[in-house]
Amino acid sequence: MSDKKTALVISAHSADFVWRAGGAIALHQKLGYEVTVVCLSYGERGESAKLWKQAGMTLEKVKAERRTEAENAAAALGVNDIRFFDVGDYPLDLGRETKDRMVDVIREVQPKWMMSHSKWDPYNTDHMNTTQFALECRMIAQAWGHNPGQKVLGAPQLYLFEPHQTEQMEWKPNVFLDITDVWDKKWAAIQCMQGQEHLWHFYENVAENRGNHFRRNSGGQSGGRNAKYAEGFQAIFPQTVDELV
Ligand SMILES: [Zn+2]
Repeated sequence: MSDKKTALVISAHSADFVWRAGGAIALHQKLGYEVTVVCLSYGERGESAKLWKQAGMTLEKVKAERRTEAENAAAALGVNDIRFFDVGDYPLDLGRETKDRMVDVIREVQPKWMMSHSKWDPYNTDHMNTTQFALECRMIAQAWGHNPGQKVLGAPQLYLFEPHQTEQMEWKPNVFLDITDVWDKKWAAIQCMQGQEHLWHFYENVAENRGNHFRRNSGGQSGGRNAKYAEGFQAIFPQTVDELV
């Protein structure tokens, strides 16, 4: 039971995990991890413009549509478990109650690694507030005095996935993950996002560019490997290793 490999992705809105971490999710599911995705909101107010342009649209209809899209995308990626907190967006309600809910999930999942947004995002404060929220919840989950008796959290890495308009976000990748083997799954998941079709090819290009960076950084001509698609991440905490490679 304790040998179970698990990971937790915290997504501000219901589509973010697809564009930014879909490859990492599909790859780790393939590697035997159980990946849990928490969508704090559906992005129903701020990231659903195409739906709102339809006549007779309501908040409940948008949320239902976005939930279906996210569930379909999660299925395409092989996500083990997806949860919707439904705390509203623009802005997210990340108060104490939401934090306690999140800490319960973190302790239940006991992730080997966690993932969230960039630390800075002046275009979308929901994103950067989610990162701060993830760091706080990680800290609370480690506290022996918080709900004594529950299993406390170890020290999982927090990876920040790639934001939109990367250069404006003070986000610097220090990890590139080859997702070529699962690109078909990520592409299928991307196409579940019918409300944001304008982003599909943008994120295909991002994956191709990061594939190029993977090849440039992996030794010689990519160490002989043709990494066609990759995702970039910024690790927050130092690595602890027995040998430098
Ligand atoms: Zn978002």
